[in-house]
Amino acid sequence: MTSDAGVVVIGGGQAAFSAVSTLRASGYDGPVTVFAAEPHLPYQRPPLSKKAHTDPDGVRVQLAPESFYRERDIALRLGEDVVALDTAARTVVTASGARLPYAHLVLATGARNRPLPVPGAELDGVHALRSLDDALAIGRALTTAREVVVVGGGFIGLELAQVARARGARVTVVELADRLLSRAVSPQLQEQLRERHERSGVRVLTGTAVHAIEGTDRVRQVVTDRGTLPAGLVVYGIGAVPRDELARDAGLAVDDGVVVDEWLRSVSDPRISAVGDCARHPHPHAEGLVRLESVQNATDQGASVGRRIAGTSTPYGSLPWFWSDQGDIKLQIVGLRSPSDEVLLVPGDSPERLAAHAFRDGRLVAVETLNWPAEHLAARRLLERRTPVHVDDLAGTTLGALARARRAAEVRT
Ligand code: ADP
Repeated sequence: MTSDAGVVVIGGGQAAFSAVSTLRASGYDGPVTVFAAEPHLPYQRPPLSKKAHTDPDGVRVQLAPESFYRERDIALRLGEDVVALDTAARTVVTASGARLPYAHLVLATGARNRPLPVPGAELDGVHALRSLDDALAIGRALTTAREVVVVGGGFIGLELAQVARARGARVTVVELADRLLSRAVSPQLQEQLRERHERSGVRVLTGTAVHAIEGTDRVRQVVTDRGTLPAGLVVYGIGAVPRDELARDAGLAVDDGVVVDEWLRSVSDPRISAVGDCARHPHPHAEGLVRLESVQNATDQGASVGRRIAGTSTPYGSLPWFWSDQGDIKLQIVGLRSPSDEVLLVPGDSPERLAAHAFRDGRLVAVETLNWPAEHLAARRLLERRTPVHVDDLAGTTLGALARARRAAEVRT
């Protein structure tokens, strides 16, 4: 064993899991300790908003069983909060006052939900979704709630809206912006998404503000500027903020996330890395720094830091991709679109398939697809290899067909 102080990871999500499993897989043999505030073994979050959970132990969503950590000599300190970093002494301080030294520290602290800033948000029957415990509480509430109000028409809100529909509830989505998914999806696809949700029976109110949630013991109704909606359950997903306060309090550079370099090291302290939702980083596909909330980003960044600490590494630059299952609607995104990109809608060979191809200076940079996994995969392959695709290449064709034609041409030459 190396005689260093080892690696300390703060966080128990996908990024933390990926960092520690990659450290060991890459041959790192120093001490590895994970501090995770939640009492559960690290688990996957994406299923929590896609299926209502009746999985009290969280076994089905676990990333690995307890034996995985034991066999690899990874010390899991579950339910233990790190409350301070002492970067001069290179130690972390826990809520109980214990101190642990590190040679490398990995911040994988994730993000927290933006709280709903209206009176009544603390009533029983009002839920946000982040943790397994939140998902279980929503799952329980859905067994009786007939009227569900979803506040926020983003990824979490729309996924939960469809979960509630599938349970037979009457569902209204209340979105403050004029469109659904305005943060992440091109305007061309937003209208399509709205239509599909409405077709499934979800009522969508855009451009609508929630003023209050009312009830005596528990929620009874939601007061909006377009009237009052009865509600047995309110779920909200109005965005997330990075958990970067440990870094900020320790004097590290923070700007809506821990600011890191292309190796994912804090720009203030190279012994500290940040990965996943809490990191703001440069990316070869982006102009300026970005903070991405996705499993792909968490997994690939965790692995990148694990490899670097173990001794083999390249700068971080994985192609970003993302998916969201909203009932029968499968939305997939690859690449990073910016608002000034030109977007071309491409229909698939059946009515439910649709793609939005985004071009910058005439070159393909991102693709959003609805119910069209083959087009998403073709886009991933082309963008990963950095094969230039010009807007004219796509006249009257799809990326799938284009990729096939190019492969055939390669074989012939
Ligand atoms: P999440 O990961 O929580 O789904 P997104 O950013 O994908 O986050 O979506 C959040 C959505 O919530 C956005 O469409 C945003 O316009 C909407 N939103 C933000 N604040 C409010 C609010 N007070 N009431 C209703 N919708 C809101």
